[in-house]
Amino acid sequence: MSTEDHRPGAVVVGGGHAGLQVAETLRTEGYQGSVTVVVDDPHPPYQRPPLSKDYLGGKDAAPLPLRGPRFAEENRIRLRTGVTATGIDRQRRTVRLDTDKEVPYAHLVLATGATNRRLTCPGGELDGVHGLRTLADAQRLGAALVPARRIVVIGAGFIGLEFAAVARARGLEVTVLEFAPRPMGRAVSPVTGDWFARAHLESGIDLRLGEGIERCDGTGRVEAVVSTTGERYPADLVVVGIGVVANTALAEQAGLEVDNGIVVDASLRTSDPAVLAVGDCASFPSVHAGIRSRLESVQNATDQARHAAHTILGRTDDYDDLPWFWSQQGPWKLQIAGLHRTGDDTVLRGDPTTGKFSVYCFRDGALVAVESINRPADHMTARRLINGQVPLTPEQVADPRTDLKTLSRSAGVA
Ligand code: FAD
Ligand code: NAP
Repeated sequence: MSTEDHRPGAVVVGGGHAGLQVAETLRTEGYQGSVTVVVDDPHPPYQRPPLSKDYLGGKDAAPLPLRGPRFAEENRIRLRTGVTATGIDRQRRTVRLDTDKEVPYAHLVLATGATNRRLTCPGGELDGVHGLRTLADAQRLGAALVPARRIVVIGAGFIGLEFAAVARARGLEVTVLEFAPRPMGRAVSPVTGDWFARAHLESGIDLRLGEGIERCDGTGRVEAVVSTTGERYPADLVVVGIGVVANTALAEQAGLEVDNGIVVDASLRTSDPAVLAVGDCASFPSVHAGIRSRLESVQNATDQARHAAHTILGRTDDYDDLPWFWSQQGPWKLQIAGLHRTGDDTVLRGDPTTGKFSVYCFRDGALVAVESINRPADHMTARRLINGQVPLTPEQVADPRTDLKTLSRSAGVA
């Protein structure tokens, strides 16, 4: 093991949406030390969202790069793809790599992301059972889709529904099993979840709610899925979208505090102030959720990354950016501003029967989240309304004469 011979600078583990943004912000904001990004994925960093949308739909057969080809060189970033960080020595402030080298750091940022949960039921390891997280997964799944006819999707979360819509648009028979009573149960309000359930059913997807997976049957290769109700669904391809677990092993080995994610404070520092964590892997005190949270989205990854870079550069304010999300499910673009919680009161604008409407969620009399379906202008307005804490009543929102756009501008928030 040899230690790289340069002055300790910033080392980022993970080169996804969060990791690259940390490196970029450090450079654009004038960080003078060396910046090293280590990522185990062998491909040049790419965007994950298209993998469950256009990439498999055939519209965009090439992966979308996260940055241009000269990004690392132009920003003086040592980008090491196909390299795994295997350990952290916090006393000596070095990161051990699987190349038998050690990199010294003054600041370490963990942006290690998350790994898909795997099926643990019998038959979960059969050929033809796929997950979708990496470009390699998408390439394997894309090839498997060509001869496929009958698909069973496990989980009606974001991956399950986005993929199901793509497969249905390709003319395939698709069954989705979800053991919760409605799709995207944790992410959206019941109104929006129920609307999407109906929309997917009407598009020809056999969406089975309240039904989980019991086992996969087949000899070597999957032939059918048996659900918790005993129903048998023939399948030549199974796609699993049952959530993720944060990649915390490195942090745990290094003795950092971990609790469903790497625990960070409001400035995104871990229990060791020289080490920060951002993105899917980080559990942070969320002012918008009112509790410690771990969010899995591009906005969270990139906004936290900018904030962590600012923390390294000496800023001391708390991370409080408004969470927002999007999901493309066939013809329906879902955009969410803020965080919905069970028990929130909801008010509709627009007509759900037209496929264009928004659901406004109120808690303790304040607007906390807005879910928009094919109403992008509502989404942008909602972000300004929530960010600006514009006082609004459910009655005002329900009244179509209320000009929310003008009210949002009065808040003076970009
Ligand atoms: P990641 O993107 O997971 O990057 C972490 C990287 O670090 C990975 O490459 C990992 O392999 C690497 N790594 C981990 N440990 C080590 C180590 N020890 N050494 C070296 N490298 C390591 N979000 C949205 O907001 N909208 C969407 O439409 C959307 N669509 C999605 C579609 C798909 C198919 C998937 C999988 C995700 C989607 N997401 C979407 C979620 C979004 O992509 C993630 O929230 C985001 O990628 C998180 O970024 P990250 O950098 O924190 O983690
Ligand atoms: P997810 O959104 O957490 O959804 C997983 C779904 O599967 C949940 O509804 C879950 O129900 C259900 N489930 C869990 N175990 C099951 C089982 N055994 N049988 C049937 N259903 C089961 O996660 P995901 O869809 O797998 O996505 C993976 C990651 O990619 C997440 O980080 C997600 O945010 C990200 N992603 C995001 C987008 C987007 O933002 N547009 C798109 C694609 C992927 P419970 O909630 O009840 O456990």
